[in-house]
Amino acid sequence: MSEPVPPGPRVHPFSIGKAPALVVSDGPLGLGAPVEEFDDLPAETVSALARRYGLPPDRTPLAQNALVVVLDGRPVLFDTGTGPELAFGPDSGRLIESLGEAGLRPDDIAAVVLTHIHPDHAWGLVDTDGRPAFPKATVHIAAEELAYVAAASTTGKYVGHHRAVMATCSHQVRPFDIGGEVMPGITAIPTPGHSIAHTSYRVSSGGETVLVLGDVMHHPMLAERTDLTYRYDYDRVRSATTRRAVLARCADEGTRVLGYHFPWPGLGHFAVAGDGYIFQPD
Ligand SMILES: [Zn+2]
Repeated sequence: MSEPVPPGPRVHPFSIGKAPALVVSDGPLGLGAPVEEFDDLPAETVSALARRYGLPPDRTPLAQNALVVVLDGRPVLFDTGTGPELAFGPDSGRLIESLGEAGLRPDDIAAVVLTHIHPDHAWGLVDTDGRPAFPKATVHIAAEELAYVAAASTTGKYVGHHRAVMATCSHQVRPFDIGGEVMPGITAIPTPGHSIAHTSYRVSSGGETVLVLGDVMHHPMLAERTDLTYRYDYDRVRSATTRRAVLARCADEGTRVLGYHFPWPGLGHFAVAGDGYIFQPD
């Protein structure tokens, strides 16, 4: 059975036009059985699909592929992994180690761009001592996502720690309205559903583009079955609608994508296949 990401620090160098880029691993998440995580189709349908995609029957080991792209000499990190909390098992929380493999120290990161505020994307903003993990970085997040987490009436399993993490980094945070350029070369694309204001990013340099999907889909099998959703989607109907729109556009335009939870390193393209799409890794 193939694992989505081998153990240990992992770095995958590539480029986006003139910009040097890396996929860095935070290590795999240990989630429950595929039929529990993706539970809105009959169990036999989901287990057959998961088996075809090489997932084991009793757990869903998802990769965590964070992007670093160096724009105008400034390393920009997209999402931060689980950090020291290890909310999804002991194999995650390795992003700093992986950055070190690439010769990058936390101080080198000039900006952090978040797709959404969930444990496996935002909790790595804080280090083991409870201080900002990337002290010299500005932190960019959709204002609507930040406001949702900050709202006093919001409750939920992880919300208390979300608030603590964002409070620790509050002096670094630069909220933005989705739809325009976050910084030169990085455009925010609204992809709501998995979270209230989930944001994908179009990263462009020298005529090349990579679409940072974040959690528009958690696994390539959700490209094949666009009627399947993830149990932790904030709005499962909206998540599926967003995913279909993203897939159609990516397949039509031949967009290179990075899937945060796709099997390592998560880069590739989508093509139309039957009623759905197939992910073709690079
Ligand atoms: Zn995630």
